[in-house]
Amino acid sequence: MPSLHYDSLLMRREGLTRDLPAGDNEDLRWVTNSSTLIFGDHDAVLVDTFTTVAQNEALIEWVKEHNRRLTHVYLTHGHGDHVYGIGQLLEAFPSARAIGTSGTFAESQIQAREEYRDGFWGRLFPGQIPVPVLPEIIEDDHFELEGHALQIVQAGHTDTEGTTFLWVPDISLVVAGDVVYNETHMYLAESTRESRMEWIASLEMVKSLDPIHVVAGHKYPDRADDPATIDDSIQYLKDFIEAERITSTALELYESVLRRHPRRANPGSLWGAAKQIKGAPASLPRK
Ligand SMILES: [Zn+2]
Repeated sequence: MPSLHYDSLLMRREGLTRDLPAGDNEDLRWVTNSSTLIFGDHDAVLVDTFTTVAQNEALIEWVKEHNRRLTHVYLTHGHGDHVYGIGQLLEAFPSARAIGTSGTFAESQIQAREEYRDGFWGRLFPGQIPVPVLPEIIEDDHFELEGHALQIVQAGHTDTEGTTFLWVPDISLVVAGDVVYNETHMYLAESTRESRMEWIASLEMVKSLDPIHVVAGHKYPDRADDPATIDDSIQYLKDFIEAERITSTALELYESVLRRHPRRANPGSLWGAAKQIKGAPASLPRK
């Protein structure tokens, strides 16, 4: 059986929380999303899409350059920054199917509503958000690419409800979606004390697979797809949990986590979580 390969494309965009306290992290106020193409000799599977029309147009060109037949677009979870490109991708690759679990479908449905698509994302990226298209629900826990199994692993509540990652045992690859972050502040605005523990358990499960490559859905450019990012993510959550326990205001929580993780990208994500959890004067809409 021919071997599989993978390649990722990163796209940088502005963060979602833009009212951060002044600080020395102004150069880090952005976030990248990753989209990963797994391919054999003839066929390919894409994991996750991007936020804006222009980013998804660039993604389509990049997929075409790989000269493979796209069979599936797999969506790891339903957040708009991962699923909004479905319609454009299916139009460019009509023989492909966009698939996700029922959890991904449910969250995509929420993100397709006007209040999120226009009211939230559209306000942050005016005129740039594609028309949402929902994925088909896949009931099986795996699908195939040129005879290789691509395993869908349920990760529960990580940065939102019903998340998953894709495990490709034949090349020891985890395409992590938002279960693992790479040098980027983790999105905790939707989390609770309980769900943060659930997230750590899911990271322990990723670790138990002993992968060689771990592609994070949000990744600092030029960093390797290093499995050490699993432990880094666990440590970040533990630091956040501890900081949440010993602080009382949003600013204290933000500064406490930032002291331990000063150079991760997208501090706005941390500020958004701090405000949501500690209660800021104006509470944030959900991502
Ligand atoms: Zn995300």
